[in-house]
Amino acid sequence: MSTNDNDPHSDPEKCMEILLRVPLTLHYLTEGNANVIYSIAPNTTDPDLALHDHCCVLRMRKDLPTTRPTLVNMTAIRDRITPLFGPEHVHNLMPKALYPLTENTLQQADEILRKLDKHLAESKAGSRVPAGRGPGHPPLNEEPHAVLMPNLRHGDHTLFHEFKPKWLHQSPSAPAGARRCRTCATNALKRSKGGKKGKGDSGFCPLDLFSDDRAIIKGILQKIDPEHGDSDWFIDAFLQQIQPVIQHLATLQAEHNTEVLKTPAILAHTTMLLRWRRLKVAHVKLADLDLKLMTDENLKKWAKMENELISSGVYTSTAMPGSACALERQLD
Ligand SMILES: [Zn+2]
Repeated sequence: MSTNDNDPHSDPEKCMEILLRVPLTLHYLTEGNANVIYSIAPNTTDPDLALHDHCCVLRMRKDLPTTRPTLVNMTAIRDRITPLFGPEHVHNLMPKALYPLTENTLQQADEILRKLDKHLAESKAGSRVPAGRGPGHPPLNEEPHAVLMPNLRHGDHTLFHEFKPKWLHQSPSAPAGARRCRTCATNALKRSKGGKKGKGDSGFCPLDLFSDDRAIIKGILQKIDPEHGDSDWFIDAFLQQIQPVIQHLATLQAEHNTEVLKTPAILAHTTMLLRWRRLKVAHVKLADLDLKLMTDENLKKWAKMENELISSGVYTSTAMPGSACALERQLD
């Protein structure tokens, strides 16, 4: 962990420890289907504490029948996901702390959402979520917790990247002679239907993430960051510091490949976050390793997708548009 400069946020765990002890002011940052993310500033006159404005975020659960209590989620991650990473890689998991909510924090959040909804309605700019007015948060007696996490995008002299490594092995049910891996096949099928380019479609083949060929790695990094992707510092750091984490993820995906999708699916949906300081990798963190993905509905959806990949012939087709899969290159 980089502690060799004066960055007060070089150890995100320390930032979180400080922020757990002070009252917070919330600012709306973004939201997903299940949570709203607030950027937070300590409400304090102490200059040392005040330094930690916006270096962390608070993730607050939405009041929906599909969301589970924060404590239940955090416990499940601690018991099911964290042990998979062992002492060597546990620091690559996004740090998270259980934050005890107060009436004041909850009121601030509800007020922010109420104003935002009002503003959006008045400006006819739509609503917070496509399906209509976004729900607020559950009452304190139903949800006494939020999740405190570092904001890796924050800070001077920092650079931030994120990408999804996706499926790092071929699907066990892919047909013989496949020209595409599971991710490239999924992306090709979606593109052939004219669908929107999904978050998992990074434009590179996940199997290439293990390559020791600098030209191939450069190609991937240029997709992740067109401005810096061809820099030697980026390629070197990828090969030395980032590839071992991807390798571990791949090992875990392979070990759990027989478990009817559940754990490998969670591992395949993770997001890799890179925080750089002065052109050196300060943090490689995996986020979104969330057990909420393990719903029966999602499992059915993924099984249906795999059946469609097989029946549509997209694994083996020679006439599909899109980026070249590592498997296809090996065959040509
Ligand atoms: Zn591929």
